Amino acid sequence: GEIEMNQPAGWIAPQPSIRITHADRPLFGADGPTKGDLASWYEAAAPLMLPFIANRPVALLRCPQGISEQCFFQKHVQKGWGKEIGSLMIEEADGSTDPVFVLGDKAAILRCVQMGAIEFHGWGSRADDIEHPDRLVFDLDPDEGIGFADIAAAARQMRDHLADMGLVTFPMVTGGKGVHVIAPLDPGADWAATEGFAKSFAQALEQAEPRRYTASMSKARRKGRIFIDWMRNRRGSTAVLPYSVRARDGAPVAVPVAWDDLPSLAGANRFTLRDPGAILDHASSVGADWGKASQTLTIAD
Ligand code: ATP
Ligand code: MN
Ligand code: MN
Repeated sequence: GEIEMNQPAGWIAPQPSIRITHADRPLFGADGPTKGDLASWYEAAAPLMLPFIANRPVALLRCPQGISEQCFFQKHVQKGWGKEIGSLMIEEADGSTDPVFVLGDKAAILRCVQMGAIEFHGWGSRADDIEHPDRLVFDLDPDEGIGFADIAAAARQMRDHLADMGLVTFPMVTGGKGVHVIAPLDPGADWAATEGFAKSFAQALEQAEPRRYTASMSKARRKGRIFIDWMRNRRGSTAVLPYSVRARDGAPVAVPVAWDDLPSLAGANRFTLRDPGAILDHASSVGADWGKASQTLTIAD
């Protein structure tokens, strides 16, 4: 075949295992990756993603015409998406009940790509026990002007505080601006307790260092600070899943990293579809233990 000029040697794009239409359509600007490139990435990354995405309610960010056209966040399965797509009926806070995506295998992921999905976001609980979270996520959102080194240092400080509370955590660069600090949990505590823990933890950080952190979403309070977004730990909230591509310039990818590697990264969006092989190499160096720990929240009364 043709020589792919903008991708380094070492990456051999796999053929997607389901039919992808409009594979030549550029999704990230005229010279950027195409829908076919996106499908090849997910074909290669599916084995890495499945431990995190399978058996979990998922929402999609779809951009059928590319990131410069309309994108929409889709929580509910529609008819006609094909037999690969699983679903689960979930009652929402407003009392309505609708089917959410549950993607069990590579074919399901690729089917979503065929339907224009770029990003994959997951609930914090599994489909077989949706009322009990199996992970806690702190979404570190920096205000403008805060460099990646500051985010990395903040994330490592959170790691230390959470370790003092008996929780092992793992960092992921989001492909955007920030880092997610993730604590896997054995399901047990309910959503209210988990959200309460996350909120108290974020507020304690703000109280200790109010110039550096805020636990408040308000724009004014975020000025010059890192917002510790604890609201990802609310029933029905989602967070971007490991190895999801982001619908942002340059086709960055959300990538699990090791704590020791975090400070040496140049930014949260430096793993991109320009070099998928580098992401796969990085994934093997991080290893299969990332994101795994057997632990529970100790909730104070
Ligand atoms: P960044 O590092 O740039 O902040 P991020 O993925 O953390 O990247 P946020 O804007 O902080 O982005 O959003 C956190 C999470 O909120 C997302 O990962 C996603 O799951 C969820 N989210 C984002 N957009 C929407 C939306 N339109 N509707 C519902 N949930 C969303
Ligand atoms: Mn964020
Ligand atoms: Mn956020």
